[in-house]
Amino acid sequence: MKPIALSPASPRGKSESRFSRRTLLAGGTAAMVAHWTSTALPCYGATPWIDHRNFGPFHFHATFPMGDLTPIFQELSALEAELQRTLAVPPAEQPVDVYLLGSEREHRNLLKQLYPRVPYRRALYVQRSGKGSVYAFQHHDLAVDLRHECTHALLHTNLPMVPLWLDEGLAEYFEMPASERAFNHPHFSKLRWNLRFGMLRGIDSLEKCHDLSEMGGAEYRFAWAWVHFMLHGPLPAHRALLHYLSDIRHGNPPGQLSERLDRAIPDSNKQMAQHFKRWRR
Ligand SMILES: [Zn+2]
Repeated sequence: MKPIALSPASPRGKSESRFSRRTLLAGGTAAMVAHWTSTALPCYGATPWIDHRNFGPFHFHATFPMGDLTPIFQELSALEAELQRTLAVPPAEQPVDVYLLGSEREHRNLLKQLYPRVPYRRALYVQRSGKGSVYAFQHHDLAVDLRHECTHALLHTNLPMVPLWLDEGLAEYFEMPASERAFNHPHFSKLRWNLRFGMLRGIDSLEKCHDLSEMGGAEYRFAWAWVHFMLHGPLPAHRALLHYLSDIRHGNPPGQLSERLDRAIPDSNKQMAQHFKRWRR
C-alpha cells in the first residue's frame, strides 16, 4: 500500500485552521475501500445528504439546502475553462464529488469516520484510484476553500501526478476570485517584503519538498509566486510551464521544471524578483 500523502496547513493568514489540503489515497485502506464500494455517497449517523446539484464537472452533495451557494458553484464550474485557458489542461475526464457539511462539527465527524488516520483539515481533497472528492463545510471562507480544493481536483483528473509545490502553488493562485487573482492575493504584501530583503526561494528548493510537512508559509508563498511569474511574466516562462504539464499529461518523463525554466530563462530568479517589483495594476 502506498503511503498516504497529506497536505499541510497553509500557514499564511490569521487562522491556523486555514488548511491546505490534498490527500492522495492511491491504495486506500481496507476500511475505506469497503466503505466506498458499499455506499454511493458517504453517510454517517442521522445526517442525510438532502440536496444534490451538478455544475460543470462538479457534483455537489450537502446536508443543507444549497440554493444560496449557486453563484459559488457557477464560479467553480468556470474554473475548469480557466485552467484550460491558462494551463491547457483539458476538461475533467470524470466528475468530482463535493461534499458540503452544514457545520464544522458535522464535517469533523464525517472526516473522522471516513478517514480516521488523516489529521483534521478544514477542507480536504481526496483522490483514490483516480476518483476525486472534496470535503468542506459552510463558513465565511468556504468559497476560498472550494476554489483551492477544486483546483487540486481538476488538475488531478487529467494529470497522473503534479509535483507538490506546483500543485499547491496553482491551488493558491486559483483560490482567489477570478477578478483578484492577478493583483489582490494576500501573498503579495509579504512576498514584496521578502524580496525587498533579498529573500527568494528558487523552484529548485521547492522541488525538494516531497512531504507536506515540509511546506510552510514561505514555501506556499513562493510556490504561489512562481506560478504567478509563469502565468503573468515572460512568455518563455509560461511556455515552459505549459510544456511541462503537457509532458506529464502525455506520460513523457517531465524532469524538473526548474531545469526547463533555467533553459528558457537563464536568470529566472532575478527576473522573478523584478517581475514583482514592476507588477502594478
Ligand atoms: Zn492545497
